[in-house]
Amino acid sequence: MIRPGAMFGTLIASVFRKPATHRYPAARFEMPANFRGQIGFIAKNCIGCRMCMRDCPADAIEIRKVGEKRFEARFDLGRCIYCAQCVDSCPKSALEATDRYELAGYNQDQLKAFFEAAPAPPAASAAQAAPQEEPSPKEPVPAPDPGK
Ligand code: SF4
Ligand code: SF4
Repeated sequence: MIRPGAMFGTLIASVFRKPATHRYPAARFEMPANFRGQIGFIAKNCIGCRMCMRDCPADAIEIRKVGEKRFEARFDLGRCIYCAQCVDSCPKSALEATDRYELAGYNQDQLKAFFEAAPAPPAASAAQAAPQEEPSPKEPVPAPDPGK
């Protein structure tokens, strides 16, 4: 037997309950701490060992040397499966899984992420770089006057 009043409690409760849906993109999601979003590159830490490239199962990383101890990184977000294996493989903590999750693009070019190399270290100061001057020979010390 159908009792129309049976639904009344459920109806009232749902009016005051927090919505199950999310007002995205007006309200953004807060990702959990271990979320594996877009991989970030911390250029100053990279030593160019390419362990990340070796271990990436999707062939999505390219590390290129652009100067003395300077490396840049390119990621193909269309290939990346966000497994974060590269983060685990990096011996210098130069890679991190960020909470960035809006990674769609209209074409392949928009799915390439590029990270510049760290700035070149400042040139050694002129004082350090210039060859050290020969120390000038000391002036001969005059012999003491025996008459005094
Ligand atoms: S594993 Fe880390 S240190 Fe080695 S090339 Fe990749 S990002 Fe650089
Ligand atoms: S997260 Fe996985 S697939 Fe993506 S670049 Fe790193 S190792 Fe490759």
